[in-house]
Amino acid sequence: MNAEGQSGNGFDPELIRANIAAVRARIDAASESAGRDPGSVRLLLATKTQPLGPVRVAIEAGETLVAENRVQEVRPKFEALEDLEYERHFIGHLQSNKINALVPYISCLQSLDRISLALKLQKRLEREDEQLDVLLQVNTSREDSKFGLDPAGLADFATEVSKLDRLHVKGLMTIGLFTDDQEKARPSLRQLRELRDEVRELNLEGVEMNELSMGMSGDLEVAIEEGSTIVRVGSAIFGSRETSDSDYWPGSANG
Ligand SMILES: *Cc1c(COP(=O)(O)O)cnc(C)c1O
Repeated sequence: MNAEGQSGNGFDPELIRANIAAVRARIDAASESAGRDPGSVRLLLATKTQPLGPVRVAIEAGETLVAENRVQEVRPKFEALEDLEYERHFIGHLQSNKINALVPYISCLQSLDRISLALKLQKRLEREDEQLDVLLQVNTSREDSKFGLDPAGLADFATEVSKLDRLHVKGLMTIGLFTDDQEKARPSLRQLRELRDEVRELNLEGVEMNELSMGMSGDLEVAIEEGSTIVRVGSAIFGSRETSDSDYWPGSANG
């Protein structure tokens, strides 16, 4: 790829814009049939492996929320798109030794899944006098290969994180069951909503439970029916990825 990130694998800006419109139409239709305000569901662009060109087109088309999975992709991309205004999240597995390479570039970590990471984040944020929004990632599909908290441990984890004043918990995130049949993903998505309600009941100081980040290209309708507030969409907008998903989700079967 060249400096613009769009050589070789030339892309069609019109197609990106048409794909966004199609995804937005799906979000609107699903919201309507669930009796929800379409404005209550945000579209997040999952841009892992995508070159800069298509990502720029999507943001210039009006998209405002973008997330990466890999720390290495964060800084180069976000720096190259610095002239654009959009919200930057992280949705990948974060190793503790990459905290400092990531935190300056994002406003929300959607994949907080262990206390050792939370403690190290708190330390870094204290040192720099910063704050960070986080979502707690839960493994609702019980696939061993996926990261995320065991649902049984979520309440305790939320309680521990509530004591860390630099981390602002905004809600929960999950990757639903991988399946070609959306209905099969429904129980894992519904469980995230139920867990959200349980954590809400705890009334933990500094813990808000307004966000449910769930639903991807293949299951966003069901996710919206189950209460999603952030759907994370990659391939339905940017096309299929050249890199196997197993690089991102070790052991995942659909890679
Ligand atoms: C890649 C990715 C997505 C988007 O997946 P698509 O099926 O391409 O829409 C959503 N969430 C996470 C955590 C991802 O890594």
